Amino acid sequence: MPYKFIFDLSKVPQLFFTEIATVSYQKGMHHRLIKNVQAVNKKFRIQEATGLNFSEALALLEDLIDLQAINAIEREKFGKTKKRALFLPHCSRKYMDSQFCKAIFDSDVPAFACKHCSFDCQVNHACNLAAKKGYDVYLLAGGSCIPKILKAHDYDGVVGVACGDEIKMLGPLLNSMNVAYQAIPLIKNGCSNTVFNIEALEKTL
Ligand code: SF4
Ligand code: SF4
Repeated sequence: MPYKFIFDLSKVPQLFFTEIATVSYQKGMHHRLIKNVQAVNKKFRIQEATGLNFSEALALLEDLIDLQAINAIEREKFGKTKKRALFLPHCSRKYMDSQFCKAIFDSDVPAFACKHCSFDCQVNHACNLAAKKGYDVYLLAGGSCIPKILKAHDYDGVVGVACGDEIKMLGPLLNSMNVAYQAIPLIKNGCSNTVFNIEALEKTL
């Protein structure tokens, strides 16, 4: 289930994400983690910045922290992988309308292939970065497409960009298929014109 709330962290200072990374290392101490999540929420005024209520803000921060912790745990295994794919969400395209976005959907894959129509589209940018690193790139209409893609190829490493809760739900599937992964959670959701951190993606690739 996608988040039931809309958020936008794209204007929150970079220091916030550094703090999220720091807190993720303390994940083993659960009571302390909750206190720290609340402290990050307060320090960066996430509720004021996003309009989320208290429980929504905490749910979002906890997912960001969990994914940082998973990335740290998976990093070594991911670093040894030889055949990798990048999964991008279709909601991050510059245009959702097929009149403007020239991506072609292939139902056999099943995924869109970006046709690079817009220089300033972050999907275009991400595709170019990934292609230079030898990744196969899939622009997905949803997480349900992933099992078919993984079964058709022998990827041992995946980088996934999507809402934090969506990526967390896919973790057990990737683990069961022995696929190491790294997560890049969206910093703005809403199912269109969504945003991810392109610098974080570049570093991860
Ligand atoms: S660059 Fe790719 S994803 Fe972006 S609008 Fe064009 S075809 Fe669609
Ligand atoms: S914002 Fe994108 S990744 Fe998140 S649920 Fe909507 S379509 Fe999926």
